[in-house]
Amino acid sequence: MTIQRIKPRIADVGGIPVARALPNRERRTIGAWCFLDHAGPARFEAGNPGMQVGEHPHINLQTFTWMLEGEVLHKDSLGNEQLIRRKQVNLMTAGHGIAHTEQTPPGIDVLHAVQLWIALPELETRIEPAFEHYGQLPEWQEGKASFTLLTGEYAGRKAPTRQFTPLVGVDIEIAGRDSIDLPLSPEFEYGVFLITGEPAVIGSELFELNEVAFLGTGQSTVQIRTTDATRLLLLGGTPMDVSDFQIWWNFVGRRTDIIQAQKDWNARDPRFGKVDTDMKRLVPPDLPWVEKANGQ
Ligand code: MN
Repeated sequence: MTIQRIKPRIADVGGIPVARALPNRERRTIGAWCFLDHAGPARFEAGNPGMQVGEHPHINLQTFTWMLEGEVLHKDSLGNEQLIRRKQVNLMTAGHGIAHTEQTPPGIDVLHAVQLWIALPELETRIEPAFEHYGQLPEWQEGKASFTLLTGEYAGRKAPTRQFTPLVGVDIEIAGRDSIDLPLSPEFEYGVFLITGEPAVIGSELFELNEVAFLGTGQSTVQIRTTDATRLLLLGGTPMDVSDFQIWWNFVGRRTDIIQAQKDWNARDPRFGKVDTDMKRLVPPDLPWVEKANGQ
């Protein structure tokens, strides 16, 4: 079994440690999963408002928030307002355009979450924007391991989470020293992301926290060996053709789609709608390809 090691970039965003594992120089996608940020765990001192992300747009992707600890308030331009708590998923489908804000509510002093993006297929399709909240997801226990199915089908279970391409996401908490074999679908490629705990052996190699072990298609199982309590995320999906696809700021798409979306956001085009908020409206940095797009 060949395993690719994906090392995250670690940043500090307003006092919140953020490990970004995708996209990465070594790998851009796992199935349609195209962005993976592990935020926290962070504890906010009195007077620190926590995470406060002002109004910003998205296109051609779904934002997928898996809450581990704390609470986040989501508000979007479709009029949705939703608090997300631990063990819950917020799923926002940007389609051809949406805007949202995300903030730590008053009185909440902790944040620990995984923020993922899923690239939408058929980038030219005019997928309608939408938002769904999943308050409860399938959970089960096998030996020392507790499983939560975030999306897709796994081990005979099915999550209610809306999908546009075949994907799976499973949160696995292993209580201590253990060795488990995770079944895989050979048509999927996978990433195993270590969220918390101790380094663990995935396949035959030792992985550190916030690293991803990437497994290509054709595997039917992977062995995980832990030395202590460890939490990990199994992400998988059908390999995606990303040759035509870019990520810039909060946009996913072909370069021409992104240039248009940025122009529209800056011009306050109604395609993104308006969030009912007093928070700051975010301004994108200048596009890296404007000169090329103008043929200069
Ligand atoms: Mn966002």
